[in-house]
Amino acid sequence: MTKQISSERKTAYYIGMGLMILGGLMFASTFVTFILNFGNFNNFESNAKSGMLRAFGGMALLIIGGIVRGVGALGVAGSGVKLDPQQAKEELEPYSRMAGGMIKDVLDESEISLGGKSEKIIMIKCQSCGKLNEEDSKFCQECGKSI
Ligand SMILES: [Zn+2]
Repeated sequence: MTKQISSERKTAYYIGMGLMILGGLMFASTFVTFILNFGNFNNFESNAKSGMLRAFGGMALLIIGGIVRGVGALGVAGSGVKLDPQQAKEELEPYSRMAGGMIKDVLDESEISLGGKSEKIIMIKCQSCGKLNEEDSKFCQECGKSI
């Protein structure tokens, strides 16, 4: 394994991890503040507001940090940030070919059954009684006259 992780990716990994820790601390601090101020309702509203802000900020930092860390750990293409349509197409080709083959088989089968039905549909009307007889029949099934 000579695959080297670039310094940019290492930096991204540590920045992401730092953001996650910061976000986690911010998120946790809202609970600490809540516990410390428990029972103190003098400035409950402002405390709740700042707590909410920190909780959301902390969550946002956790999410952003997680993404940055993932990019650093897996690389831009590996983490799914940079999509390669050509590569994805090549990977999917055997499946689409298989699906195409299946569709072709179904079409072939339906053609065969349709062909069989259409042969039976061809009937000859008897000149004297009007009964429909099969194409290859020599005599009418109803009255027995030759067709
Ligand atoms: Zn007839």
